[in-house]
Parts: sequence; C-alpha cells; structure tokens
Amino acid sequence: MSSFDTVIIGGGVMGLWTALACARRDERVLLVERRKVGAGSSGRSGAILRQHYSHPVMIAMARYGLQRYADFSQETGHDIGFRRTGMLLICSRDDAEMLEQNIARQRACGVDAHLLSADEARARFPGLTLGDDIVCGWEPEAGFVDPVRTVRALAACARGAGATVREGVSATSIHRTESGRVDGVVLDDLARVNCERVILATGPWTRAFTDRLGIDLALTIRRPEQAFFATPESSTDTQIIVGDLPLGLYWKPEPNGWLRVGRLSYDDDDIIENPDRFDEGVSGPFVALCHDGLATRVPLCRDAMSWGGCAALYTCTPDGQALIGPMPAPSGTGVIPGLFIATGFSGHGFKLGPAVGEGLSAIIRGLEPSTFPSTFLAPDRFRAGRRIESAYAYRILG
Ligand SMILES: Cc1cc2nc3c(=O)[nH]c(=O)nc-3n(C[C@H](O)[C@H](O)[C@H](O)COP(=O)(O)OP(=O)(O)OC[C@H]3O[C@@H](n4cnc5c(N)ncnc54)[C@H](O)[C@@H]3O)c2cc1C
Repeated sequence: MSSFDTVIIGGGVMGLWTALACARRDERVLLVERRKVGAGSSGRSGAILRQHYSHPVMIAMARYGLQRYADFSQETGHDIGFRRTGMLLICSRDDAEMLEQNIARQRACGVDAHLLSADEARARFPGLTLGDDIVCGWEPEAGFVDPVRTVRALAACARGAGATVREGVSATSIHRTESGRVDGVVLDDLARVNCERVILATGPWTRAFTDRLGIDLALTIRRPEQAFFATPESSTDTQIIVGDLPLGLYWKPEPNGWLRVGRLSYDDDDIIENPDRFDEGVSGPFVALCHDGLATRVPLCRDAMSWGGCAALYTCTPDGQALIGPMPAPSGTGVIPGLFIATGFSGHGFKLGPAVGEGLSAIIRGLEPSTFPSTFLAPDRFRAGRRIESAYAYRILG
C-alpha cells in the first residue's frame, strides 16, 4: 500500500496548481485524474485573466494569478500561450457610479485600470460601435492563456517538483478511520492509498463524494454555451477581450484566432444533474444571438463565419464564489478532519488557480494563506448565513 502526505482528486487547474504548490513544499503528493488533465471545465475554459472584480480579496487573487501566468514561461520554460490583449468592460451610463467605484478599488490594489467616457472609448477603439449611453472600464494588463497547454504544463511542473500525477485513474471513495478522520483513498483499480489528507478538486463531479458523505454544499452545475466565429479580417479591435454588460455577452480571441462569444450571466443556463451526460453542442438560436450581439458592437464581424460552438460546465455556488478549505461535517458543526475542498468556481476560476494552489497548500498545514484570508471562501459560509456580495448582477464578474 503506497503512502502520501496529500492525495488530490481531480486534474483541473485547481488540483494541478495545488499539487505544484504542495510538491514545492516538499510534501509527498499524489494527484489522480480519472481521464486526462484538463478533461473537465479547465480544458474548455476561456482562460481569461482579468482583474476586474468588485471585492478587494478577489482583485488580489486575480492579480496574483495574472502575474503567475504571465511569468510562467520564464519561470518554468513551458509556453502556455499567454497573450496580453487588454480587456474592455462596456457598461450602461446608469452603472457609471458602480464602475467608477470598482475601478478605484482595483487601482487601490495596484491594478492598471481606467475609466473611459464614451468619447475616450470611441477614440481608442474606432472599430467598435459605442453610443453616448455607455461608459467603459479598460484594463490593459488583462489577457488569456491556452487552457490545454496550461494544464499539461502544470502537470509536467508538478511532476518535476516531485508530485506523482496519474491520469486515467479514478478515486472511488475516501477512507476514514473509526474516529472519522480521513486516512486514505480507494482507487478504481481497488488499490488503497494511505495519506494524511485528501483534497477534493473535482469540479462538477464533487457531489459524487459529498452526497455520499451526507453533506450539502449548495452546488449547482450549469451548462453555459459558447459560439466561435472566424472574422473576415483581423483588426486590433477584435483582438481584445470585451465584457459587454448592455448586451449581456463577452467575447475574446481564441488561441487559434477565432472569437469565442458567450453569455455573461449563467442564470438562464440549463441545470445539469449528471456531469457525465449532457448535451455538449450549442443551439442555432444561441449562435444567432452571439452573432447579432457581436455584429452590433463590432461592424467588422457582420460577415463573421460561424464555427458552431460547444457547451461545458460551471460548478456554481449561491453567491458565485468558490468554496475553499476544510470540508464541513454533515452534523452541522465542525469539519471532517483531513478532508479539504476547492470547488464552486462559478465560471471564473481559471485566473484564480495560482492563488488557490498557494493558499490551499498553506491551509492544509494549518497556516494562514498569503493569497486570501483562510475564512473568506470557507465552505461552511452558507451554513453560517454568510454570502460574499458582488457589485454586479452578473456573478461571474464577482
Ligand atoms: C466554458 C467555460 C469558460 C470559462 N472561462 C473562464 C475564463 O475566461 N476565465 C476564468 O478565470 N475562468 C473561466 N472558466 C472557469 C474555469 O475554467 C473553472 O473555474 C476552472 O477550470 C475549474 O477548475 P477545477 O479544477 O475546479 O475543475 P475541473 O477542471 O472540472 O477539474 C475537475 C477534474 O476532476 C476530475 N475528476 C472528477 N472526479 C474524479 C474522480 N473520482 N477521480 C479522479 N478525477 C476525478 C475530472 O475529470 C476533472 O478533470 C470557464 C469555464 C468554462 C466551462
């Protein structure tokens, strides 16, 4: 029977960043991924790295993540396709005060963020149709990475740092002592692995474990769609990331040059019960909605060719923010000793991965993280009647 300090279940960005951080602290780490790393939400992510949040802790986490991704290739020698494009957030004039306050918060955290009037935005982005009824936020540091290259590079780095990363291996159950402390994991080849602690980083599959433990974390699995378009010609104004609140859409350049378009809100997206069986395609009306919105704002895209799209999964919480820390006990108070969780990233977790890995690697050793306060994203906060409030109706902008 093999033995590790920490077993991480799930090879998405959260499991991988955590494995890397733990291995760099000389922990004996095993990460098991039932398919290939990135097979869940991470591999289909837009992987947008922006710092536009409305809460100082989230801004700091996003800022830390952006810097780690930007430095990744120099730090590790792995090219993860980082591109700094900038992000334009288009708001209605009615939201000007809220936007101004958020930008002030971001600037206080060191973010290079600017408020642009309609005139200033038109002068800077002549390829966009921007009326007098809008006001914009501009974040030149924002960018994106290639999500698939990123998870593969993370797995290689975690292995290089001493972690064991096994793909094609599923964890079937968590083993506990008579006193209830976690002391191991059973794998699908029936092997039992002993460990001090287990971290669940299983994204949409988390309920397979929590239901069996009798814990309700109030997680909902949503099915957002996204459409892809090839523009007839490229312009600098199609090569930026845009969050368009009046249209309720976002778009971004993809690593292959296409534009990805999706909805800002997930409130109308289907709720999925079984993450192993869902429609991975997109509907014609959704593609048409994205095309019409894009063409309204970017005239160059009127003749953009549709390449269809795909659906993927968000793991959502009631306040749109993640659950990170010790697993609450089913009894209503306390925690399950030795069991930790990082899930519920509600469609905006990719950029947060570096802060999560660093923070969780401290929390499991009983230390206060340097990247976020340990209680801020505590998994028992709904039980305690606490929610993290966002300034936006779109929780994804948190
Ligand atoms: C379409 C889309 C666009 C997005 N765009 C952005 C964006 O632009 N910017 C941003 O910051 N975030 C974005 N996100 C969100 C971000 O991608 C997610 O928050 C993040 O990838 C979640 O990572 P994870 O590791 O928690 O989950 P996942 O990536 O889902 O990883 C969980 C892993 O656990 C594995 N697993 C499950 N059960 C077991 C088991 N029993 N044994 C072993 N392995 C198991 C799964 O196979 C899976 O690989 C987007 C998400 C989607 C879906």
